Amino acid sequence: MQLDLLYERINGCTACGLCQGRTKVVPGEGPERPRIMFIGEGPGFHEDRQGRPFVGPAGKFLEELLSAIGLTREQVYITNIIKCRPPNNRDPLPEEVKQCSSWLEQQIDLLAPELIVTLGRHSMARFFPGETIGKMHGRLGVVNGQKVFAMYHPAAALHQQRLRDTLIEDMKKIPEALEQEDQQPPEEDQSEQLSMF
Ligand code: URA
Repeated sequence: MQLDLLYERINGCTACGLCQGRTKVVPGEGPERPRIMFIGEGPGFHEDRQGRPFVGPAGKFLEELLSAIGLTREQVYITNIIKCRPPNNRDPLPEEVKQCSSWLEQQIDLLAPELIVTLGRHSMARFFPGETIGKMHGRLGVVNGQKVFAMYHPAAALHQQRLRDTLIEDMKKIPEALEQEDQQPPEEDQSEQLSMF
């Protein structure tokens, strides 16, 4: 399937109740062959208005983080776990995440990024269920053959200098994560194999 067709389908989605309160669906944006795909939580106020991911204050900080490794937002793919804004920016419900998950799966299949970077715990939980962001941030894992790198959510760092510094440090590990060879699990252990920095 082509990306345009996928966007059309996502834009018309009515699979969960979030479709009733949204202004615009926020499918995601970026190049068709990205090396890196960033996955946030869900659209906030600004994203819902514009139909684009990370265009508010958290997005501004994400752009700063990208510039720390010489990238612009146009060079990476940016999307979210859920494509419609939850009321009052509440956490997405498990049912909403479940209903929305096939869109993200199709995006990953189509875009085939070398590296997925999760932003925040909801996005991290999709790949590392049961883990904590405090433990996983700044670490590279291989999940079903896909390299996944976990980071804190940029919004969490907007008012906390310590977390800002952590996010910058973690972002600076991304070039190395991109170059690192996938480490296949040994044959007797086909479960997740984490290769830690
Ligand atoms: N926070 C997110 O998780 N995603 C956005 O698109 C904006 C803010």
